[in-house]
Amino acid sequence: MKRRDFMKMSCGVAAGLTLSGLGLDLSSVEAFAAGLDKAQKIKTAVQSTTICCYCAVGCGLICSTEKKSGKIINIEGDPEHPINEGSLCAKGAGIYQTTMANEQRLTKVLYRAPYTDSWVEKDWDFAIDRIAKNLKKERDASFIETNDKNQTVNRVETLAHLGSSNVDSEECWATTMFARSLGLVYVDHQARV
Ligand code: SF4
Repeated sequence: MKRRDFMKMSCGVAAGLTLSGLGLDLSSVEAFAAGLDKAQKIKTAVQSTTICCYCAVGCGLICSTEKKSGKIINIEGDPEHPINEGSLCAKGAGIYQTTMANEQRLTKVLYRAPYTDSWVEKDWDFAIDRIAKNLKKERDASFIETNDKNQTVNRVETLAHLGSSNVDSEECWATTMFARSLGLVYVDHQARV
C-alpha cells in the first residue's frame, strides 16, 4: 500500500471513530481498523512457507509469526505456489483457527451425564475410558457374523464413524482403518458432507 493511500484510509478510520460518538453503527469501520492493524503487523512478521496438511492437493501456505513473541498471527494461501496460486478451500482457509489465536477452540473435556442439563469438566482418561467401554458394549451386543444367506459379513450396523474436518490425510487413513477393523460399515467424513 502506498503512503498516500495509507494516510487516506487512516483519516477515514479516524473520522469514523468520531462519528461513533453520535450513536452510529461503526462496526464495519472498527473491523477495517483491525484489518489495518493486522496488515501492519504482518508486514513486520517473520514469514515462512509450508503446505496445508489436510489433503493430497497440497496447497501452499504463508505462515506469519510475530518476531518478539514467536506467535502465529496469520496464515494465508501462497500466491507463488504452483498448485493453489494463493487460493485455499474453506478448510485450508480456516487453518489459522486451529492455532492458539482462536480462544474459542475446545481444550478440555466437558461431560454432560444422561438426564442432566449441566456440563462437568473431566480429564482425557475419563473420556477415553468411557468411549472405549461404550464402544465395546455396543459392538458386543450388535456384531453380525453372517447375513441372511449365511455369508460371513462380520459387521456392525448400530455404530457409525464421522471424521472431523480437522484431521489430515494420514489421520483419516488411521481412523478409517480402525473403524473398519471394528466392522463398521457407516463411515463418513465431515468434509465430504
Ligand atoms: S484441504 Fe483445501 S487448502 Fe488444504 S490442501 Fe486440500 S484443497 Fe488445499
